[in-house]
Amino acid sequence: MKTLTIILCVLFSIHATSQEDYAILRKNMVEKQIQARGVTHLPTLTAMLNVPRHEFVPEAVKPYAYFDQPLPIGDGQTISQPYIVAFMTEALRLKKTDRVLEIGTGSGYQAAVLATIVDSVYTIEIVEKLALEAKQRLKTMKYNNILVRSGDGYHGWPEKAPFDAIMVTAGAETIPQALIDQLKIGGRLIIPVGPHNGVRQLVLATKKKNKITKKNLMSVRFVPFTRDE
Ligand code: SAH
Repeated sequence: MKTLTIILCVLFSIHATSQEDYAILRKNMVEKQIQARGVTHLPTLTAMLNVPRHEFVPEAVKPYAYFDQPLPIGDGQTISQPYIVAFMTEALRLKKTDRVLEIGTGSGYQAAVLATIVDSVYTIEIVEKLALEAKQRLKTMKYNNILVRSGDGYHGWPEKAPFDAIMVTAGAETIPQALIDQLKIGGRLIIPVGPHNGVRQLVLATKKKNKITKKNLMSVRFVPFTRDE
């Protein structure tokens, strides 16, 4: 019975064409992949239910947009698995009034999820082509509270700092100090940290008055954080 359900779901995904079909796939994704694994933060679940993930992936992989996996978005980069997007979003304990920095715009999907929850999102992408595409896509989709910039996110975005929260969606070997500096007191940073191309730890760092506390949340694989020079 379970196998039959999976086969039917896959067939439905591959033949989905209307907005209603995609809405059904999103509801299924939220229930089976995200809530089932323990995400409960309502604004995160609502965002995952509303942001049309299929609009952020290349035409060729659209049928797989709501599958339980990361997908290629061109230039050797990937859009993260839906559960990881939701998990990282929930971990930041976001409030409506927050200003958030994302490093690694990619398709713009994670930025869109954040932007439906918070006041404003600033996002930096090192591959210029991806940055331009994401900027255009987010503009067309009317995500008016997202600012996209092309460049090396290692230095953060000092002109727009300080931030309530920062999310890095590429795997770094260490936490860039500039990102810590650009957090408000009480601010949260989530970043995959670990050896190049290996399994990394998703680290949640919180900036207190005189110290930084760090917590390892789970093991993850991410495309590497690259540098401009
Ligand atoms: N958040 C994206 C997926 C991120 S994939 C989405 O929702 O689609 C990681 C992205 O980080 C890639 O696009 C990669 O080019 C970018 N990246 C890697 N190193 C970077 C750096 N130093 N500064 C900014 N972006 C970087």
